[in-house]
Amino acid sequence: MARGPSPQKRAADRRKRRRLAGVALERLGERYEHPTWAGPRVDAVSELVLTILSQNTADTNSFRAFTALRERYPTWPEVLAAPTDELEDVLRPGGLAPTKSKRIQHVLAEVHSETGGTWDLGFLGAWPLERAREWLTSLPGIGRKTASIVLLFNFGRPAMPVDTHVHRVAWRLGMFARNTPLDRAHDFLEEVLEPLEMYPFHVEMIRHGRDTCRAPRPICGLCPLTDVCAYYPLAARGRAPMAPIPKGTPDPDAAPRFHDELIHGWRPPE
Ligand code: SF4
Repeated sequence: MARGPSPQKRAADRRKRRRLAGVALERLGERYEHPTWAGPRVDAVSELVLTILSQNTADTNSFRAFTALRERYPTWPEVLAAPTDELEDVLRPGGLAPTKSKRIQHVLAEVHSETGGTWDLGFLGAWPLERAREWLTSLPGIGRKTASIVLLFNFGRPAMPVDTHVHRVAWRLGMFARNTPLDRAHDFLEEVLEPLEMYPFHVEMIRHGRDTCRAPRPICGLCPLTDVCAYYPLAARGRAPMAPIPKGTPDPDAAPRFHDELIHGWRPPE
């Protein structure tokens, strides 16, 4: 039987993840203006429907589909009662409409049953975290990431959503292996982040993954984390892909700052 890492190795890995998370929070926080959770952006049922609509599609498409949904069906009972093929037509601008229309109606049916028709998911803010997470992930098509988004964004609960950007930046930094499954990545990050760090860490890592630590080629010359990153030394030696700084971007006096220049006297290539 395969044996896992020793307790000493697990503890050392945890300390490393904590150290990297602390550095990322500090430097990315400075760059992205220390985002803080200021309460839910929409009600919890809307958040759940929005996150289903956002699965495998760009935010602009999911918001467009959500707007079309609410215009066509102003109340949740109307969405639930709608003929599925009609709902599918309404959701088509958001992509994957056949799957998402069925998924949304299944989820709304479960919410209706659990809340007795009040559509109030406030219990997710009061239940023990694990129970709330289990209820959410028992819904059709709702995985750990979507459950964590609802718990964090709507109820300010200490759940860390790991999407493709968070996962990519974290493995490049060296917080876990590249092939770490998403569920495991959630555990790894939740065990080293303080409850109040989860929202800023999530937002900062996503922003960094979108604008600097991009897939497939990161713009390391614009990154404040090169001195702690496991990927950067490989990229700097040409053993891993890295993108040049786009023309017109450099402005050392304004964000983004060139951390290498500040620390090591290195200037990014013109
Ligand atoms: S140094 Fe490069 S690979 Fe590492 S986190 Fe920054 S952008 Fe990503």
